[in-house]
Amino acid sequence: MAKFDQPNVHAPNPNLKVWLNGRLVPVGEAAINVFDHGVLYGDGVFEGLRSYGGRVFRLKQHLQRLEDSARAIRLVMPMPKEEMTEAIYRTMEANGIRDGYIRLVVTRGVGTLGLSPNRAGCPSVFIIASQIDLYPRELYEKGMAIVSTSIVRNHPNALSARIKSCNYLNNILAKIEAQDAGVHEAIMYNHCGYVAECTGDNIFLVRNGVVQTPPITAGILEGITRDAVIELVRQRSLPIREMDLTRHDLYVADECFLTGSAAEVIPVTSIDGRPIGNAQPGPVTLQLIADFRELVNREE
Ligand code: PMP
Repeated sequence: MAKFDQPNVHAPNPNLKVWLNGRLVPVGEAAINVFDHGVLYGDGVFEGLRSYGGRVFRLKQHLQRLEDSARAIRLVMPMPKEEMTEAIYRTMEANGIRDGYIRLVVTRGVGTLGLSPNRAGCPSVFIIASQIDLYPRELYEKGMAIVSTSIVRNHPNALSARIKSCNYLNNILAKIEAQDAGVHEAIMYNHCGYVAECTGDNIFLVRNGVVQTPPITAGILEGITRDAVIELVRQRSLPIREMDLTRHDLYVADECFLTGSAAEVIPVTSIDGRPIGNAQPGPVTLQLIADFRELVNREE
C-alpha cells in the first residue's frame, strides 16, 4: 500500500452529509482546497455545539462567540447568523441528528502562498453534525484523572484564548502530555503560573462549600458550558468565586470538575496522581451534573 493510501482507522460514517459553502455534500466530497488558509495556517475560527432533543443548546451564544472570534482575527463572516442557524438545522436534519455534536468552522478561504489574509478570497464555511465521545462513559460516574502540563497556555497578547481559532497546537501539545501520562485531559497554567483551563474544557473546584473557577482574565476560553454552570451554582445559592487559582488550590480542593460542550460536566477525582477530596465525585459536582442535564433538556 502506498504511503499516502493508509486507511483511516477512524474514518467517518460514509453516509454523513456535510454542509460546505452552501451545499450538503457526502462526506467523501466535502473537501477543502489545499490553498485555503485554514489548512495552510490554521487561519480560521470554529465552534463546537451540542444539540439535545433536536434543539441546539445556547446557539445564540455560540454564534456570538464565533462572530467575536472572527472579528478578533479580522475575518468578515460570509453569512449572517440567521443563515448560519438555518444551515446548522438543515445539516442536523440531513443526518438525523437530534442529540449530537455540531462542528461549525469558518476558514479564511482560498488564497495564495504567504500569510497575508488580504490575498484570500471568500471564507469557507462547513458544518458537521455528528456525535462525539470525548471521554469514556464510565468516567462520568467514577470521575477522571488529569495531570498538570508543562505547556503554558497562550499568552493573551500572543493569541488570546478567547479566540476559538483553528490553531489548537497549544492545546494539542498539552493533550499529548496528558496521553503520555496515561490520562485524557491536562491542566494548562497561564504565563503567570495560575491555573488557566484544560485542553478542551474549563475547570472548577469546590473548597469548603465555595465553588471556584479561574476568571476570564486568566487567559481562558469563555466557555458556554462554564457560563451555564455558573448560573446553576447561583440558582443553588452556592457561593462562587472567579479567582486566580494555583496548583496548591487544586491539591487541597474537596471537589473538581470540568465543563465543555463536548465534555458536558465531568467529575475529576485525581490531579497529578493525588486524590481530590475522597477520590469520589463530590456532592456539589453530582448536583451540578444533574442540574445541567435538567437545564439542557428544559431550555428552548
Ligand atoms: N476551553 C477550551 C480550550 C475549549 O476548547 C473548550 C471547548 N470549546 C472549552 C474551554 C469549553 O467551552 P464550551 O463550554 O463553550 O464548549
